[in-house]
Amino acid sequence: MAKKWYPVIDYGECLECGICIEKCSHGVYDTSKNPSPIVKHPEACIDHCHGCGNICPVGAITYVGDDTRWLPPKGNSVAVETCCSCGSDEFSGKKILVEYLYLDLQTCDRCIGTDNILDEVMMVLTPALKLAGYEIEYNKIEIKTEELAQKHQFLSSPTIRVNENDVCQSVAENSCGCCSDISGTEVDCRVFEYQGETYEVPPHEMLAEAILKEVFSEAEGGCACGEYKLPENLKIFFNGKSSKEGDKCSCGGSCC
Ligand code: SF4
Ligand code: SF4
Repeated sequence: MAKKWYPVIDYGECLECGICIEKCSHGVYDTSKNPSPIVKHPEACIDHCHGCGNICPVGAITYVGDDTRWLPPKGNSVAVETCCSCGSDEFSGKKILVEYLYLDLQTCDRCIGTDNILDEVMMVLTPALKLAGYEIEYNKIEIKTEELAQKHQFLSSPTIRVNENDVCQSVAENSCGCCSDISGTEVDCRVFEYQGETYEVPPHEMLAEAILKEVFSEAEGGCACGEYKLPENLKIFFNGKSSKEGDKCSCGGSCC
């Protein structure tokens, strides 16, 4: 059966910035043609992933088979803003929004590993949930700056939310060598606690259970407006990362 979900590029709009090629970790685009986005392996695209479309600055990417109400955000927030920036009153009826929020998918083993497991779980659950009449949206959000962390009320990396509810009841962390390298300072990242064990990369069954629990519990999205404070650990990460990036660049501030 032909693949029913993959990106389509509007070359009339495309700026050939190559961001979508960099973004996709699933080999959908032909990297040898970078920065021209050529969809070489549509079959590798993850059902209901809007990863590249969410970051395309001009909205040049749409998806074959997209039956969600997703619209290209053209560089703006990927979340639909409703009463407040949390979007929590958006989820009613049979809509499931799964969000993956992370610090780094280039070098951080924990973020990359969790990303892969979540993709696999979504690949299995999405067709069944669609069959049951649910509308599924799956977004990935890179938290590049302190401002984005504030905007998304980010507490710890990586975070998985289902209809705005964190799949973890609380934040547990341990030292992360990868993110410490990225920021040049000692930082902690999330660990996942499941059935008495602690994991740096969550097991498939933990994520599947959390998503299905949200679907069948008819839980209301949690609104944490006004209660958020950027954790010190993330402040240290962003400060360290920007000083490290500043050290690397010799432009004197003119190029970055
Ligand atoms: S991110 Fe958008 S503008 Fe940039 S190369 Fe991809 S399709 Fe073109
Ligand atoms: S939708 Fe996701 S998996 Fe598909 S090409 Fe874009 S980033 Fe890659």
